[in-house]
Amino acid sequence: MVLLLATALPSAAQDPSAALRSEMVRSQLAARGIEDQVTLRAMAEVPRHLFVPPSYRARAYEDGPLPIGHGQTISQPYIVAIMTELADPGPGRRILEIGTGSGYQAAVLAATGAEVFTVEIIPELAESAGKRLTELGYAKVRVRQADGYFGWAEQAPFDAILVTAAAEFIPPPLLEQLAEGGRMIIPVGSPFLVQTLMLVEKRRGKVTTRSLFPVRFVPFRRQS
Ligand code: SAH
Repeated sequence: MVLLLATALPSAAQDPSAALRSEMVRSQLAARGIEDQVTLRAMAEVPRHLFVPPSYRARAYEDGPLPIGHGQTISQPYIVAIMTELADPGPGRRILEIGTGSGYQAAVLAATGAEVFTVEIIPELAESAGKRLTELGYAKVRVRQADGYFGWAEQAPFDAILVTAAAEFIPPPLLEQLAEGGRMIIPVGSPFLVQTLMLVEKRRGKVTTRSLFPVRFVPFRRQS
């Protein structure tokens, strides 16, 4: 596995951040049980340092979330990786993300070949993430500024839906927009107390939910 990854990576001589990323993949992701090669390769490829403000660039590959402005954060690499792995992304898969933020999670999904749709409620973040994704070669990611509570009905159904802000309950429109056999990964709970990452699956029209582990996300907001 190590050899396979090494050949898939650009050499550290061409790109010094590549070495930081392969170390992140080894020590933060593979070591904690992320096994999906598609996910690990995407995490090794996407330049996380270009998704954080310049003043945080040196800390981009640290094991934690970082501020991205407007009171929001880019998630810890491990959280991005586990949500990606659970979404089972790849070519031909249509994935909706709610909470574009910096655009990093969307870029990781796009790097797997998946078709990515992402919704952000804060206009400035939607705009800057859209620009960044285009500049970095992820122009196929579709970014929309809206309240993600309503999903993206025109593009539904989705094989996977990732919500990257903590909601107090699962928004019904998102459940409706999940394809048969689809999966939603969503942190549910009070913004200031405990939140749980939930895996929601739809099989033969029936919805099942499973609690995975406690997490801490920024609150899911509503358009006022
Ligand atoms: N996935 C992001 C991190 C997102 S932080 C990344 O990779 O950088 C959570 C984001 O969800 C914030 O940008 C916040 O503005 C956004 N958000 C919160 N409530 C939302 C809603 N109802 N609809 C869409 N976006 C929302």
